[in-house]
Amino acid sequence: MEVKKVLLNESDMPKYWYNVLPDLPNPIDPPLHPATGKPLKPQDLERLFAKELIEQELSNKSEIEIPQEIREVYAIYRPTPLVRAYNLEKALKTPARIYYKNESVSPAGSHKPNTAIAQAYYNKKEGTLSLTTETGAGQWGSALAFAGSIFGLNVKVYMVKVSYEQKPYRKSMINVWGAQIFPSPSNTTNVGREILRKDPNNNGSLGIAISEAIEAALESPNTHYTLGSVLNHVLLHQTIIGLEAKKQFELINQYPDVILAPCGGGSNLGGIALPFVRDKINGRQLRVVAVEPASCPTLTKGAYAYDYADSAKMTPLLFMYTLGHNFMPPSIHAGGLRYHGDSPIISRLYKDGIIEATTLKQNEVFEAAVLFAKTEGIIPAPETAHAIKAAINEAIIAKQEQKQKNILICFSGHGHFDMAAYDNYLSGNLKDIEFSDNLIKEALKDLPNIKVN
Ligand SMILES: *Cc1c(COP(=O)(O)O)cnc(C)c1O
Repeated sequence: MEVKKVLLNESDMPKYWYNVLPDLPNPIDPPLHPATGKPLKPQDLERLFAKELIEQELSNKSEIEIPQEIREVYAIYRPTPLVRAYNLEKALKTPARIYYKNESVSPAGSHKPNTAIAQAYYNKKEGTLSLTTETGAGQWGSALAFAGSIFGLNVKVYMVKVSYEQKPYRKSMINVWGAQIFPSPSNTTNVGREILRKDPNNNGSLGIAISEAIEAALESPNTHYTLGSVLNHVLLHQTIIGLEAKKQFELINQYPDVILAPCGGGSNLGGIALPFVRDKINGRQLRVVAVEPASCPTLTKGAYAYDYADSAKMTPLLFMYTLGHNFMPPSIHAGGLRYHGDSPIISRLYKDGIIEATTLKQNEVFEAAVLFAKTEGIIPAPETAHAIKAAINEAIIAKQEQKQKNILICFSGHGHFDMAAYDNYLSGNLKDIEFSDNLIKEALKDLPNIKVN
């Protein structure tokens, strides 16, 4: 028997992140200024982000060194294990090997600290005192609260209201790490007050929470905004996942045939897959699949167009797959996957046929989550369970075809704060969202009218 867990020593932790930008077969289109519609200059971003993060956002270097100070904090939980899901394989009677890269071992319980730590570090180094951000399911907000506490920064988190109410212990966690948290829309910003005036029962969305966090950053001195997904520098930091996984596969003389990850803004997918995508661009056989919820199908049903990253149109315009900045996703349990847009890098790779995408419904996802918990023990986050269900589907096909193949899952987080969702599923009360494509058609009418050549 092969080992159950493939472990790396701390000294084997990668010393460089991988930047895919110079290797992309087609470059991504530049972000545009929200007021002028002209390509952004790096200076335009300085009011919002630390300078070194802006440099990384636009960098053409393939390798970017991970500072020692960041590696020391990573060492709290990294390198993370690559685990073979033997019991799940047995339950499925599949000849496929199923591996998962376990990012749930971080203090916040997900992959999000990989970039939160880096963003907090560069901001601290530059003299920033406070950070603002939005959070959907609460994973990003707690990751940033943790990183802020390590580096001594004040953190303000705007959490999508429906998730804030579903997951009270995310708030507690954020408070333990010394950060402030507000349900969004809140009455602490103009954007929030305006939305509440029109619709006092608004459930909130990531787009609204981003607008609030940006307004809060612009209003206060020495304050920057941070984003937990979508942007190039976030995917860059997350490549530590795939770089470690590659070394772990080398240790067992294997290579993945298919990589599966849940896709919200694309950061854990990019993180695990980009170092392998580099091989694929150079001719290696490999499939990479983004797994989306059927009720927020950004890659599979969105438009490839310039759009705002938030609903108040305060952010730069990104060229990406989008359901429209006013798209209000149904309140499903995988809160981390309720975002109208997608990373420009992931969007480009999808457009160019280098990665694929698929969608799943809530009940089949939770069924897979429970099977994983019963066989492998760990209770996955509902987001993560999307990749697990897709992996089970791959393993069943492998069984029908009697083919050995290596399946790699990004185990993006655990579900310890999602137990209400599990209760809901176990009691048979979880609904698959009935969803009309007209909702998407309507939201896509609001796309800004920008010609691309
Ligand atoms: C945030 C989150 C996701 C989705 O975000 P990506 O940027 O697409 O990675 C997936 N899983 C977990 C556990 C998350 O916290």
